[in-house]
Amino acid sequence: MYYKNLNIDINYEKCFLEETRKIIAGSQPQKRKGLLNTLVHRIYLEKSIEFIQQHGRRTFPCFSGFFSFFLNPQGEIFPCVSMDKCLGNIREKPFREIWNNKKSIEARQNIKRLRCIHCWVECEAFKDIKLNNTYLIKEILKEILWRKRF
Ligand code: SF4
Repeated sequence: MYYKNLNIDINYEKCFLEETRKIIAGSQPQKRKGLLNTLVHRIYLEKSIEFIQQHGRRTFPCFSGFFSFFLNPQGEIFPCVSMDKCLGNIREKPFREIWNNKKSIEARQNIKRLRCIHCWVECEAFKDIKLNNTYLIKEILKEILWRKRF
């Protein structure tokens, strides 16, 4: 699973941050299908810098365990791809039962308070950006105003 589950400490040194900044600044804006996906990708990159500045801590709410889950090939359900916390197995119990059990409720409470290992993996972060309406509306407005200027 995720590297933090292996207790590998990541050293978020200044040079790492500068290097990432350079890579992001030098990368061509990736054209995604539709304006929304292109914006989400841009926000994802911008927030990557913030994630590194915060030494691998998220400042952005996560909706894993509320709107998504991770299902492994063995049938085990996890709140997300990064957390090594099995909520149950769909080969043993119906999904609805697992989704509403004590472990799942606790996992959601912890995620809501950002009490998790924290990550900024694309497949999880994209969903969180898309579900964060306030942030998205702000970015869409910025994009419209920017386009009007040029
Ligand atoms: S921030 Fe990452 S580790 Fe924490 S719940 Fe969300 S997806 Fe999982």
